[in-house]
Amino acid sequence: MHAHFTSLLLNLKEITITNIVNVQDDFYIYVQPTDYLQVCPQCEGRNVIRKGTAYERKVRHLPAFGRCVYLLLPAIRMSCNQCGASFVWQ
Ligand SMILES: [Zn+2]
Repeated sequence: MHAHFTSLLLNLKEITITNIVNVQDDFYIYVQPTDYLQVCPQCEGRNVIRKGTAYERKVRHLPAFGRCVYLLLPAIRMSCNQCGASFVWQ
């Protein structure tokens, strides 16, 4: 319920909140994409596989309650079986 309410506040339908942490007066919101796979950005094919998470992106979001808000997004590596392109979740 709490995460769902925060999802409504962020108004980002493509991600799901997994955890919220308060670090030194800043909010760190850990998110995951709602979809398991993403179409290839090169050929727009759907024959794509996940190849793990390389690192975590830290994106500054709009401030809330006078504090900085950061989104921590996994950089999910993907590969297209159709054209051979490798890319990270957009
Ligand atoms: Zn492709």
